[in-house]
Amino acid sequence: MGKVRPPKDRKYGRGTMRCIRCGTREAIIRKYGLMLCRRCFREVAEELGFRRYY
Ligand SMILES: [Zn+2]
Repeated sequence: MGKVRPPKDRKYGRGTMRCIRCGTREAIIRKYGLMLCRRCFREVAEELGFRRYY
């Protein structure tokens, strides 16, 4: 049949957020535009000097 579907935008759909550091999809923190999971955020935060978080 002749139905044409628009291509799905898979890049920015819900539930596709991943940690840019380790790739996990659990507990992603988007604060400050970091896109890191909680674990990586903590490590990066220490490097950046955010010692007060967590
Ligand atoms: Zn991570």
